[in-house]
Order: sequence, then C-alpha cells, then structure tokens
Amino acid sequence: MMKPREVAKGVYLIGGAGITDPWDCLIYLIDMEELIIIDTGCGQSVERIIYNIRKLKLNPVMISTIFLTHSHIDHIGGAAYLKKRFGAKVIAHSFDSNIIEKGDREKSGAYFYGMDLEPVSVDIKIYSTQQEFSFGEEKLLSIHTPGHTPGSISIYLERDGKKIIFAQDVHGPFMELFDSNLSDWASSMRRLLSIKPDILCEGHFGIYQPYQVAKRYIESQLIEQGLPTIPSSKKIYRVSTYRTGLYCLIRPFFRNN
Ligand SMILES: [Zn+2]
Ligand SMILES: [Zn+2]
Repeated sequence: MMKPREVAKGVYLIGGAGITDPWDCLIYLIDMEELIIIDTGCGQSVERIIYNIRKLKLNPVMISTIFLTHSHIDHIGGAAYLKKRFGAKVIAHSFDSNIIEKGDREKSGAYFYGMDLEPVSVDIKIYSTQQEFSFGEEKLLSIHTPGHTPGSISIYLERDGKKIIFAQDVHGPFMELFDSNLSDWASSMRRLLSIKPDILCEGHFGIYQPYQVAKRYIESQLIEQGLPTIPSSKKIYRVSTYRTGLYCLIRPFFRNN
C-alpha cells in the first residue's frame, strides 16, 4: 500500500487505488484548521482513510466538511459513515443530490461494483455555477463542471500562491446511465483551462502539475473525444459509450512527482 502524501502545503492525497482500496477514487484532504475531505471512496475503506489521516498527525475528529464531486459510489460510498462518526457536513450539487440521498444503486454505479450504497443526506446543496465556502481566513470555491454527471463539481483552492483544482472525473466515462453530456463536459473542461491551474487533482489518474502538464492532460481528454480545445459554438449531441470498462480498475500514477 502506498502512503498518504502531501500534494501542496496542507493538502494531502489520503486515499485511492493502491492507497486505501482498489475501488476508491482519489481522496483528498485539506487542512484549513478544520479538515475538509474531497470525496470519500467506495465505503469499504473508511477505517483506512481515518488511519491515514492519523498518520499525517492530523485528528480525524476535526473533519468538518465533505465535498462530494459527484454521485458515483467510488466517490460517495464512505460519506454516510464519515458524516455519522464525525458529524461532518456533506456538500454536493443539487443535480446529483437525489442519487446520493436515495442511495441509488444503478445511477451511482454501485450496481456495477456489486456493492450496496448507504444513502446520506446532503446538508448543503449547491444550486449556483459558483459558490464560495469560507473556512477561517481561507475559502474554497465550488465550480459547477457538468458533463460526466449533471451535478459534477470541481473545487478550487488557492494555497501558497498556487491555484489548485480538485476536478475528479475529468476523464469521464460518459454514459447515458449517468446522464453524461459531452457538450457540457467540453465547456466545463475549457472553464477549468481558463483558470490555469498550477495543480490539477484528478479522480483516478493522479495529480498533474505544473500548469503546462495539467493543460496538456485536459486538452488530451478533449482531443480523445474529438472535441476542440478552444471555445466553439458547435453543439455536440453524441454520448460516447463506456470506453474503458470498469473505470476504477486503474492504478493511480503520478506525473512529475
Ligand atoms: Zn470516479
Ligand atoms: Zn464518476
């Protein structure tokens, strides 16, 4: 098992395939005096996540907030437990909240994994394109980046002079079951590019930095879908099929680290 590690000052990768559970998305932790978790893995690894937080000499009791970037089991499965145990607030976009609150096995992808999904109530539902959340002196910005799912969000943080984006499932996949929309996704990706992130934290493939590497990664995803990397008025109606089988069977690897 890989160890958790620091991505930027007070920003940690605490879970994912090879770190906590092969089915987990990459799980990030931000120390803002209180602890913020971005995504929670599939639910089988919650104790390991807690163990990893302690290994960083941080106290999991300080977990105040859980952002769920979208409604798939590999991202939301641990939320119910972590909320219950630490009293953390769950934040997600309103468009994906139904699936999370119902524990929808099909739409969440739990069915593919042969897993159950414990429903969890979403304390703060995001309705706007951008919403700011204050934590002491610092802020996190949620940016609505639909495409993979209608309620996908990316989280933006400025830390130590660096622009960090937790964009999670940038790579898709795009499926009718998920109500994916390639046209929306392309706009979302261009939006992320316009921010010029120094560090891009992705949901399964790892961490891309500096900006040129992050840019190349996002552009390569657009190109792979046959989409322009610069703004275009062209409407896209195609939804590609499930490209890579079970997308979580991917070991994370890290660029330039
Ligand atoms: Zn995922
Ligand atoms: Zn997903």
